[in-house]
Amino acid sequence: MQSISPETIFRGNYAWEKSLPKITRLTKSPLILGRCNYTNNLRNKIFIDLKNQNLNVNYANLQFDCCYEDISLIKNIILENNHDSVIAAGGGKVLDAGKYIADCLNIPCITVPLSAATCAGWTALSNIYTKDGQFIRDVALRSCPKILVYDHTFIKTAPSRTLASGIADALAKWYESSVTSSTIDDGLVQQAIQISRVLRDQLLIDGAKAFKGKLGNNPSWRNTIEACGLTAGLVGGIGGEKCRTAAAHAIHNAITQIITPNKFLHGEIVGVGLLLQLRLEEMKNNNKLADQSIKQLFVLMKELNLPTTIAQLGINVFQDNNLEKIADFTCRDESEIHFLPFEIHKQDIIEVISNFELQKIKI
Ligand SMILES: [Zn+2]
Repeated sequence: MQSISPETIFRGNYAWEKSLPKITRLTKSPLILGRCNYTNNLRNKIFIDLKNQNLNVNYANLQFDCCYEDISLIKNIILENNHDSVIAAGGGKVLDAGKYIADCLNIPCITVPLSAATCAGWTALSNIYTKDGQFIRDVALRSCPKILVYDHTFIKTAPSRTLASGIADALAKWYESSVTSSTIDDGLVQQAIQISRVLRDQLLIDGAKAFKGKLGNNPSWRNTIEACGLTAGLVGGIGGEKCRTAAAHAIHNAITQIITPNKFLHGEIVGVGLLLQLRLEEMKNNNKLADQSIKQLFVLMKELNLPTTIAQLGINVFQDNNLEKIADFTCRDESEIHFLPFEIHKQDIIEVISNFELQKIKI
């Protein structure tokens, strides 16, 4: 079974208002799920709008992350109060938690992304972390959300850093799916890979303009946020589980194992993983174009103010056995790194990361 997309998508300015009649037909007692204080105003608006529709609405926040502790707390709130849907309004962690909880309880999930940092509003997938943000596993859900509300007026309020992070994560779709899945003889997978190539090209053309430009009616901004929040999700939906992630996400998952005082966004870490994946392809698979791709990505990432080394993510890999820890987690049996079409050993990861961090290889 494959769930390609949310059942209904509202997009554009005031998509939230346009979605209200549909939402009120679907649910009488929703729980609004959020996390960070920064977006409380938007959730208050959502709450008041639903109250005005005479819905029995309540709200709850994740205390930590999309972690089992928070998930079980929120599940109990829903069961005790007989809520009949979850409206997940926030970033990727909130969307993933909302989808996962709704899937467990067999109630519909409505996703309302409040930034362009993620395509989690679209997909039938949740990533589970520890309370401290260490990646544990991803879980395939039975379906994509029932309704996705991609309201540009909400997304405009998000810090520009979230947009940069979303661009890096969406770019990874092409670099990961093309290396892992291009030999898979399945039309839909091939089409998903080609969509991710067009997505990459659009981001290379429009990404920096979107990041630096004025919001409002800036078409680069509009196309970029929809590329990150919608098209990236569509690629996952069409490609399904055969259209796989690879080293960029495997390295992201490993980097999250190191707990640091400053938290970095998913796409910010994936972007560094992407540069490292390309170095691995160059080193182990004789990919002659990898260096070109690194240079091209590096210029864009600098324009987007994105980190380009693990050190810039606040981690010194040469301290506290960090390099070993990252290499171990990257190469564990269930890691996506093994979807690469060439063998990767722990020593390869150690070598590529230490060279990269020491910048022995000039970019
Ligand atoms: Zn990702």
